[in-house]
Amino acid sequence: PSIPAVEALQHEDVARLLPRPSAESDKYRRGVVGVVAGSARYPGAAVLAVAGALRGGAGAVRYVGPATEAVIARFPETLVHTGPPAKAGRVQSWVVGPGLGEGIGAVPEILASDAAVLVDADGLRQLDPEAVRGRSAPTLLTPHAGEAAALLEVAREEVESARLASVRELARRYGATVLLKGSTTLVADPDPSVAVRVNPMGTPWLATAGSGDVLSGLAGSLLATGLNARDAGSVAAYLHGLAARRAAADGTPITSWEVGEGVRGAWGACVLG
Ligand code: AMP
Ligand code: MG
Repeated sequence: PSIPAVEALQHEDVARLLPRPSAESDKYRRGVVGVVAGSARYPGAAVLAVAGALRGGAGAVRYVGPATEAVIARFPETLVHTGPPAKAGRVQSWVVGPGLGEGIGAVPEILASDAAVLVDADGLRQLDPEAVRGRSAPTLLTPHAGEAAALLEVAREEVESARLASVRELARRYGATVLLKGSTTLVADPDPSVAVRVNPMGTPWLATAGSGDVLSGLAGSLLATGLNARDAGSVAAYLHGLAARRAAADGTPITSWEVGEGVRGAWGACVLG
């Protein structure tokens, strides 16, 4: 039997995959997501990643990092921690990287945990392939073309001109699921026999500062609810793109904050058909 090289989720696939709480649920059983993001230079990345994480279905979001005041000012529902991630309490998934700057020392500690892990942005710098390969819990890397090029040690143009081959090669090399962002978002499984998911819901209005931070929080939250890395990445990209399309429906520019705000409406549009 021939295996399709690529496939696209549709509205009904997303609706089926989205988590729903049950009568037995409590905030912990819905899944807890830990966000390690932000720095003195980029406090907003922490706020935007938390914005995504709060809308991805997890029951609670823990923020670990230096931007606790900025996070709490926008989202009082966040649990904030200033020590090392390992001391922050149990989580089902970690999101590490948005706006971290030089704070990338937390990455090895997080990769060594048995929770699901999403690594984005600065977290992808100095990423040890062996530390990623050795993990047994779901692992999702979310580079844009420039970050993917650095991981592959090639020029950015090489990734842009061969996006499908690049995402497959990264997934193979790291033994992890890889979501390559950009004009078309692709999600590759480390198993080369699994079809790459292509996101049908993108929009170039997403090419705005901070939108990737919202996506990583959203995908990490879906991981915390128990979705596998391929489903979490592709469902997050779908909701993110749909949120942006809805926000930009009048043809006006959107901010990444508004993308985060729009995730609820996008989720509703999928669930209600
Ligand atoms: P980042 O590069 O981390 O800020 O993430 C940018 C986000 O915007 C990702 O979700 C990209 O897939 C999306 N994006 C950027 N440029 C485009 C584009 N030209 N068309 C569609 N989506 C885009
Ligand atoms: Mg980014």
